[in-house]
Amino acid sequence: MTQEGRRVQRRRRRRRQRIRRLCLLAAVVLVILAAVLLIWQPWGKDEPKEDPAGQTETPETPDPGTEEPEEPEQPENPIDKTAWNLLLVNPWNPLPENFTVELKDVNASHQVDARCYDDLMEMLEAAQAQGLEPVICSSYRTQNTQQVLFDYAVDQFLNQGLSQEEAEKAAARDTAVPGTSEHQVGLALDIVDVNYQMLDDAQADTPTQQWLMANSWRYGFILRYAKEKTDITGIMYEPWHYRYVGREAAKEIYESGVCLEEYLAQ
Ligand SMILES: [Zn+2]
Repeated sequence: MTQEGRRVQRRRRRRRQRIRRLCLLAAVVLVILAAVLLIWQPWGKDEPKEDPAGQTETPETPDPGTEEPEEPEQPENPIDKTAWNLLLVNPWNPLPENFTVELKDVNASHQVDARCYDDLMEMLEAAQAQGLEPVICSSYRTQNTQQVLFDYAVDQFLNQGLSQEEAEKAAARDTAVPGTSEHQVGLALDIVDVNYQMLDDAQADTPTQQWLMANSWRYGFILRYAKEKTDITGIMYEPWHYRYVGREAAKEIYESGVCLEEYLAQ
């Protein structure tokens, strides 16, 4: 090979080496660029995309395999369902033995559990401020009072020709069997409109009832025996019977549309 030929070969080798180095450099730059993009993720991190339903994408959830699963969110102060204000008394849950309650006079003829007195007063005053005249027609009852009421209801059915057993069964639908009435707890009140004091379905249409049904929960009271829950409560629809359960529970019960039995079973 001539000297000229060797020079040409060296130049070619050097050019090939330069091209290889350039390729290597380009590859390294590409890898670095890809890594930077992966870490930075300029797509979709700053602006969460919207899904067709219009809901914003939730932030990325941690991989369950690598991180501790998060505790399900608990309300800050979960409601104690065994508290005095949530005592369940119904046809299947009689009043606890030796039940006692500290009473407070609402007026000359009515008493309630002293612990719901302030909320009751606030509710009645709020109704009156709307120009309404709620009238309490029943509140705390002793076992004896409940027995008198029940016996009277049974007599009405006996007079209609029912047997003792049938009469007691029929009476129990609207007058609780003594020992199973919420009125004996001191947390239940029958409230009617001054202009319509009948205890029937039409009571629901009075201005007082309309207001109480919409607002009693703000003061800790629920309409206890709803029309669509009679199978669960065991008591007929009573659009006048309000039960104190406390403000927190009343709000939850009102908003979820459940009855007390369902709420306590949750
Ligand atoms: Zn009642």
